[in-house]
Amino acid sequence: MSKFFSQKYSALTPYVPGEQPKDMQYIKLNTNESPFPPTEAVAAAVASESAKLQLYSDPECVELRAKFAKIYGIGTDQVIMTNGSDEVLNFAFMAFADDAHPLAFADITYGFYPVFAQLNNIPYEEIPLASDFSIKAQDYIGIGKTVVIANPNAPTGLCQPLSDIEEIVKSNPDNVVIIDEAYVDFGGESAVSLINKYDNLLVTGTFSKSRSMAGARLGFGIANASLIADLNTVKYSTNPYNVNRMTAAAGCAVLNENELYMANCRTIMQNREWTTCELSRLGFEVLPSKTNFVFAKSSRIGGENLYLALKERGILVRHFKKERIKDYNRITIGTAEQMQALISAIECILEEKTL
Ligand code: PMP
Repeated sequence: MSKFFSQKYSALTPYVPGEQPKDMQYIKLNTNESPFPPTEAVAAAVASESAKLQLYSDPECVELRAKFAKIYGIGTDQVIMTNGSDEVLNFAFMAFADDAHPLAFADITYGFYPVFAQLNNIPYEEIPLASDFSIKAQDYIGIGKTVVIANPNAPTGLCQPLSDIEEIVKSNPDNVVIIDEAYVDFGGESAVSLINKYDNLLVTGTFSKSRSMAGARLGFGIANASLIADLNTVKYSTNPYNVNRMTAAAGCAVLNENELYMANCRTIMQNREWTTCELSRLGFEVLPSKTNFVFAKSSRIGGENLYLALKERGILVRHFKKERIKDYNRITIGTAEQMQALISAIECILEEKTL
């Protein structure tokens, strides 16, 4: 740390993204990306925008928001587009949480929540998940804090019923409830249908997982118009051109073929069911996932050892050292071929162990 680093950030522990090693070609099952590249139409849209890089992007993302609002059945003033959903989460923490509205989120959830809380100097409470890793809705009912729930949750993959979410939103009318739906397109139940009913509900989402755009960075927030106006106040005080013109064009091109990306999600869901069956056959405990990953533990090999053995065989999965989940690995669902390679590798690893 340099002597110039502000005191207010000196205790910050930054978020650690999944590794992206370059030493060899890995089967990447560690950062929940889509295995399917975007279509030619997306590449063409990006190429055409790249010829206009001397011009700023549209800070209002007018065309993108119009297409998006139509698909989601909302008004264009009910959505904000951001540089990945990490950005809308940070904006939301800045806008809707402070000493008077501290944060509450699960002890096992997306690792960026405590980082954004620390960055913005917001007090937070980590609420333990139940022993089966589900969220205990009653812990959040009337909690009187700014609530953040990833639904489905990460890294567990578990989905909470919409009725629980509605109870939590309804019982905290003086605080914003943020529902992070990064993985909702893989079988979850979206809370977007509730935004006109509750003025304290913000739903966030991303094009990174279900729409093959992790590298372009496009996220969004959906809420009633006044919450979106507050988020825009933060955005225009931070980075008005937060979505670059190539990403905005890619987003429009993806939405033009939305059904194709939703079909990709269904393929991933099929591959997920196959992978779950195969891992169970090999003696793993696999949590029932509504995401593009599974969270699984073996009684025969520790989480870290399996992660290392797979990496040696060119397959990357995500292992977390946190005590409660250190026996598990989070495995992104890829193509059928990738998942077959994973299962064969695990079979070899387990066989070698028993020799
Ligand atoms: N929420 C959750 C639960 C996530 O797992 C991720 C992915 N790391 C994000 C939000 C952020 O994704 P992105 O910034 O790529 O939209």
